[in-house]
Amino acid sequence: MPPLNQTMEKRVASVNTNLVGLTRDSLRETLVGRGTDPTKVAMRVSQVWHWIYQQGVRDFNLMTNLSRDYRRELRASCEIKVPDLVKRQISQDGTRKYLFRLQDGREIETVYIPDDDRGTVCVSSQVGCTLNCSFCHTGTQRLVRNLSAGEIVGQVLATRDDLDEWPKKGQKSGTPRLLSNIVLMGMGEPLYNFDNVRDAMKIVMDGEGISLSRRRVTLSTAGVVPKIRRAGEEIGCRLAISLHATTDEIRDQLVPINRKWNLATLFTELRDYPRLSNSERITFEYVMLDGVNDSDEDARRLVKWIEGIPAKVNLIPFNFWPQSPYRRSTPERIQRFASILLKSGYASPVRTPRGEDIMAACGQLKSECQPRLKTQR
Ligand code: SAH
Repeated sequence: MPPLNQTMEKRVASVNTNLVGLTRDSLRETLVGRGTDPTKVAMRVSQVWHWIYQQGVRDFNLMTNLSRDYRRELRASCEIKVPDLVKRQISQDGTRKYLFRLQDGREIETVYIPDDDRGTVCVSSQVGCTLNCSFCHTGTQRLVRNLSAGEIVGQVLATRDDLDEWPKKGQKSGTPRLLSNIVLMGMGEPLYNFDNVRDAMKIVMDGEGISLSRRRVTLSTAGVVPKIRRAGEEIGCRLAISLHATTDEIRDQLVPINRKWNLATLFTELRDYPRLSNSERITFEYVMLDGVNDSDEDARRLVKWIEGIPAKVNLIPFNFWPQSPYRRSTPERIQRFASILLKSGYASPVRTPRGEDIMAACGQLKSECQPRLKTQR
């Protein structure tokens, strides 16, 4: 019998490296490690990226501008893998909810939302979430783990697969896009998985990667204050804050991370963000909960908080989920709240719930992977 570590080495050697989600630097290292000529590696990185992110190719054999031998070498030690689509639901309004299975069997949800002028994919950054926001369904699910950069970018690639949006033979890439925007508003807190989210978004925004303008990428956070500055400096996409309350007392209940970083701390940090990232306005998300955070005083306090920040407010009618203790504010209340904001100069569109009939709306995502995994064991 061979010694144990030798068997292990063999096994490790037989696992191919997934190239999806590798930064330019890691891909360069990987390719040089697989025998690529270092003087040619920059060009190889561009070529491989082009095939993966702009052409949707998953098979090295189709990378026709690489020599046959080189393709064979890559195939022997690398792979191009995206999460497996396990289930797809399509709402009456066209919203699509995907359940993806990851390589370790965990499951995540991703949502695609078509609009007249754009198509947005809402990606997850973690399996589950640790924040425990009391009105959010995902928060009732235990965190299992962070997603890798490959699993984050992989959701975008797999969504393009489903939309059949890869250039056809002879067609140029980059023409009208069904998938034009990305929001990090699925399961998880993106700033608790900073490095992987950053690496994934770099690929999304790179002209040789998925090539979306940074104005079309929005990262939403519940307010992980120490990471906001880095998000501005190192990612530079648009920022959304899940605000949801105007007093610490209420926000402590709704978004418990507020007990760590309260409203005053959060807003001090936010005043720097647009300058740091050279970005457009910050979006404040505000869920409308009947009798909890929807009074006229709340609207006026909200205006005070955001004064001086280039901002817009998104009012989100609460999306119900079973066992939730909250109810949605009435349409009249939401209108009245919006009109107070408008008087102070803040346009505050009321977000139309999308995909409610398939539990795909904000805060409704919750994969059922845990019980299922338990029964598998
Ligand atoms: N953790 C990040 C990313 C999740 S984004 C964050 O908190 O920003 C998901 C958005 O949907 C957040 O603004 C969240 O507060 C909101 N949301 C959660 N549950 C909701 C519900 N039941 N109805 C409406 N919006 C909800």
